[in-house]
Amino acid sequence: MNQANTDGAGVRGSNGCMTRREAVRAGALVGAGLAVAGGTAVLARRAKAPPDPSGPGTIRSLPVLNNLPARADEDVLLRMQRELVKAMAKPVEQRRWIMVIDTRKCVGCHACTIACIAENHLPPGVVYRPVVTEEFGEFPNVQLRFTPRPCMQCDSPPCVPVCPVNATWKRADGIVAIDYDKCIGCRYCIAACPYGARTSDFGENYTDGVAQGCPEGDESPMFGAQAPWADQPSHEYGKAWRREGHQSPAGNARKCHFCLHRLEAGQLPQCATSCIGRATYFGDANDPGSLVTELVTKHNVQTLLPHKGTKPRVFYIV
Ligand code: SF4
Repeated sequence: MNQANTDGAGVRGSNGCMTRREAVRAGALVGAGLAVAGGTAVLARRAKAPPDPSGPGTIRSLPVLNNLPARADEDVLLRMQRELVKAMAKPVEQRRWIMVIDTRKCVGCHACTIACIAENHLPPGVVYRPVVTEEFGEFPNVQLRFTPRPCMQCDSPPCVPVCPVNATWKRADGIVAIDYDKCIGCRYCIAACPYGARTSDFGENYTDGVAQGCPEGDESPMFGAQAPWADQPSHEYGKAWRREGHQSPAGNARKCHFCLHRLEAGQLPQCATSCIGRATYFGDANDPGSLVTELVTKHNVQTLLPHKGTKPRVFYIV
């Protein structure tokens, strides 16, 4: 693996190779999805027409980074961002999204887990990207291994055929989507997934029963769903889902969708953006020049539970 690509030196502008203007712009682009700095991006997402989750021939003209010259030593996030823009300019059926996770680089910080919860506004009990921790050996020769586990976006997904109302399906670009308006919450798909990648939204809020103060000019306290966090919508699948009064996606099955709503807005999945170890790579496997293609070609990548025949689209470097 090209270490020069992973240290972020390009963004920091060492040796004066990148002008301050370029560095500031690069930083702004890469950080646009982070919870604190993502206000503008969120507003942009809200303003966009919602994509059809059935995956029509969407082609996105995303001129992001067009004026920023590519550098051999740039941060991998910038490279993946360029490749994302290139992929989104193609018809949806010509993209093949995959994720590559380098477990040698994962430090078990759970930043991706938390960033995903913030991005998708996940309630208690719903986690799209847990990080599994395993311990090997005997003291004092012990080792830890961390394995982030998003939805595998399987090419033969056992969760799809068991759905009695066709609320989940495989998109042309490989993402397994859920129609929250169709889902009846039967949980067959949750039982069918061998990875435990689906969880049920029971309609709970972190702020249930917790007083959040009083609105200005009103002395009655705000509780639960009236509280600021619970009131914010999730933007999955390009719609604003508010869960008020147990509305969708409360009561539904939920899972990782490679941040489809972010891809439509020209942004990388939040887990890739927030990974401090640069252990998560995302891109179009149909692009022979993409970083993910390079990684799966160069490394002896593995998938989880290959004997299940699910054909995962998440690959691990171990
Ligand atoms: Fe379905 Fe589970 Fe595969 Fe995701 S990991 S596509 S939920 S079977």
